[in-house]
Amino acid sequence: MQDLCTKSSPKICAVVLCAGKGLRANLGYNKVLHSFSNESVALKSIKKFLRFDEVIVVCDEDTREVLSCSLPYDNVRFVGGGMTRTDSVKNALKSIKDCDIVTIHDGARPFVTEQIIEQSVRSALTYGSGVVAYQSTDALKKVTDGKTQSVDRSDYYIVQTPQSFDFKKLVDAYSRNSGVYADDSEVYDRAGYEVHISPGSRDNVKLTTPSDFLGLNGAYRVGYGFDVHAFCENRILVLCGKTIDYPLGLLGHSDADAPVHAVMDALLSACSLPDIGVLFPDTDPRFEGADSMKLLEKVMQKITDYEIINASVCIITQKPKIAPHVSDMRKNLAIALNVDINDVNVSATTTEHLGITGEGKGLASSAMVLIRKK
Ligand code: MG
Repeated sequence: MQDLCTKSSPKICAVVLCAGKGLRANLGYNKVLHSFSNESVALKSIKKFLRFDEVIVVCDEDTREVLSCSLPYDNVRFVGGGMTRTDSVKNALKSIKDCDIVTIHDGARPFVTEQIIEQSVRSALTYGSGVVAYQSTDALKKVTDGKTQSVDRSDYYIVQTPQSFDFKKLVDAYSRNSGVYADDSEVYDRAGYEVHISPGSRDNVKLTTPSDFLGLNGAYRVGYGFDVHAFCENRILVLCGKTIDYPLGLLGHSDADAPVHAVMDALLSACSLPDIGVLFPDTDPRFEGADSMKLLEKVMQKITDYEIINASVCIITQKPKIAPHVSDMRKNLAIALNVDINDVNVSATTTEHLGITGEGKGLASSAMVLIRKK
């Protein structure tokens, strides 16, 4: 098989569409500039096509400014977008002097694979077109004027991109159609050319709505924290901001609220930030006797890029009994973490009289949090 990676005949041009407003994503900026795993959606999409002779990125001026500094490649150039997808593709096609195959891709489909692209382009070389599509796994109904009709889903395909075409035929198709179309295969089809399907994948998703962006790599993060303090006399016992009537308190530079310390370290760890030993060192007199709930406020101010999904706290101690205080502890943490009380839980356990906590020498706490990038 001919190696499509070589920049020789046939000449193949890629068009990557990044001019949409992406309003349905509700991000407040062009969705293709959304970054995950340290790279924008648009860059991930564009880079899949760099092996071709020319890559034309269609976008507005602002998007061009952002993208151009990350694309120092001789074969990449930019073209202004139009009012509609159809106009954007026309702009790109007009800018191409000559090529054999043009492959057109949505900039918002960053998960397209080399194999999908390869098969699409090869289909265009063989049949004149290679439109990526896959069969629906859901049942389909045709509804006309409120009348529902069952259809055979094996007759229907979900159409994606890339869509690859014989360049001259696609230019001819666009020259003979003046409306606004959903995609290039519709223009090609309406001009009387045969649309050939090339295998797609459900994973080749077009990022469109807010939920499409939630599960992206890096959007969710977990964090774990752990802390131990020794019991001592003449100290007040404070756990999760609740003062507890007990003859002993916990020894520490601050109020020694171990479960809150564990929660803070879990949050900081989830964000890959330095822990509370670094942020609030016990050598700093400002934190002597500090209210740990106030320190938690400071931690929350450091992680404003994230929202907390839930927090799970475990207090490990032989005494005192924690159960009567769990409700107040959850309330305090829910307010501090800005979540519903059902998204914070505090559990307690003993260690069956074993070890430091079992012998009543100290109290330990662990915490896990799940956070999500806003
Ligand atoms: Mg501590």
